[in-house]
Amino acid sequence: MSQASSPAGAPALLHPLPSYLQADKLGPWGNYLQQVDRVIPHLGSLARWAETLKRPKRILIVDVPIHMDDGTVAHFEGYRVQHNVSRGPGKGGVRFHQDVTLSEVMALSAWMSIKNAAVNVPYGGAKGGIRVDPKKLSRGELERMTRRYTSEIGIIIGPNKDIPAPDVNTNEQIMAWMMDTYSMNTGSTSTGVVTGKPVDLGGSLGRREATGRGVFTVGAEAAKHIDLDIATARVAVQGFGNVGGVAGKLFAEAGARIVAVQDHGGTIYREAGLDVPSLLRHVAATGSVAGFAQAEVIADDKFWDVDCEILIPAALEQQITRDNAGRIKARMIIEGANGPTTPEADDILQERNVLVLPDVIANAGGVTVSYFEWVQDFSSFFWDEAEINARLVRIMKEAFAGVWQVSQDHKVSLRTATFIVACKRILHTRELRGLYP
Ligand code: GLU
Repeated sequence: MSQASSPAGAPALLHPLPSYLQADKLGPWGNYLQQVDRVIPHLGSLARWAETLKRPKRILIVDVPIHMDDGTVAHFEGYRVQHNVSRGPGKGGVRFHQDVTLSEVMALSAWMSIKNAAVNVPYGGAKGGIRVDPKKLSRGELERMTRRYTSEIGIIIGPNKDIPAPDVNTNEQIMAWMMDTYSMNTGSTSTGVVTGKPVDLGGSLGRREATGRGVFTVGAEAAKHIDLDIATARVAVQGFGNVGGVAGKLFAEAGARIVAVQDHGGTIYREAGLDVPSLLRHVAATGSVAGFAQAEVIADDKFWDVDCEILIPAALEQQITRDNAGRIKARMIIEGANGPTTPEADDILQERNVLVLPDVIANAGGVTVSYFEWVQDFSSFFWDEAEINARLVRIMKEAFAGVWQVSQDHKVSLRTATFIVACKRILHTRELRGLYP
């Protein structure tokens, strides 16, 4: 039950959250609501507007029918959620995964609002997804599904309205199809409608590596505060795609040993450190870490017991729970994934003095370079990669330093500190804009 704000003296009206917003209390949206509740006591007078954070502005559920190669017609369920647009257009990725649900997309859209405000890029938060296992589709089916989905959500996206980008199982090619579909429907080429596009279509140099680079940058900054030497650290990584693979490579280049990697194919371990460049080649060729010769295979559940100083969850939500949080040996967890740690696990880790660098700051590098891409598209003027990376590192370091200071001042976790910084920015603009009508 939530309480609506009311003018002083007037009786407060009770507005329970609609059922779809309450549903799935243990899922990602439930976790997000708990994270918001933890920040409300720190918001001062802006707490009056906090209810806004618990209600996505706009939710679109679409049917996506396509012709399959075998002549049948298949229907997929698609979503686009715009959680908040107080600070600018909606911004956030599109995910293709068999477990996508409305609750998950709502949570992911809300985390985008927090993330974008945390690094102070001028966006609200949005997210989309299709409930599908894309590995089961042919290339033609994948293209038809992407194009039909884009047409269906075309009524709410646009370069000044809501800008999709890659996320789990979506990539530059999918963004190219989305950009083309939107452009065909509107009658002119509109590169700025999506980010994470191929460089030849208005994409940005450095975008593909940006999330992993941000994970590394924030991790290296945080390590200084806890006297952790990256050059001698052992690192375990879950997920070895666009985020975990790039972060693992950068940590290895800084001298760290990548001792364990887990993905959907299994879990591999090498005490002396895995050869990251050859593992990346193996994953690119085969699709997973399974079958990599220069490592031993360990049981998936043993991943959480691995001796390491740094753990990087870079796959899906709800991986670190009350069931495994007590077993983790790492001194620092860098959340490359969105929502990998449940609030209960957060408490256990804090109690055990494990430093958690939360998703909403640690993986913000991707959307930061998406912002650079969008700006470059508008001006049709493109920066070189060194310029992009330097700007990215500067934004990440500044944002992290601010969040670190707030966590010290308020004696709260880095997650709550990031939420304090971000929610104040969002609700301040909410208050300035006021309610219409
Ligand atoms: N999907 C990425 C994320 O979760 C990037 C979103 C974007 O670039 O808009 O942050």
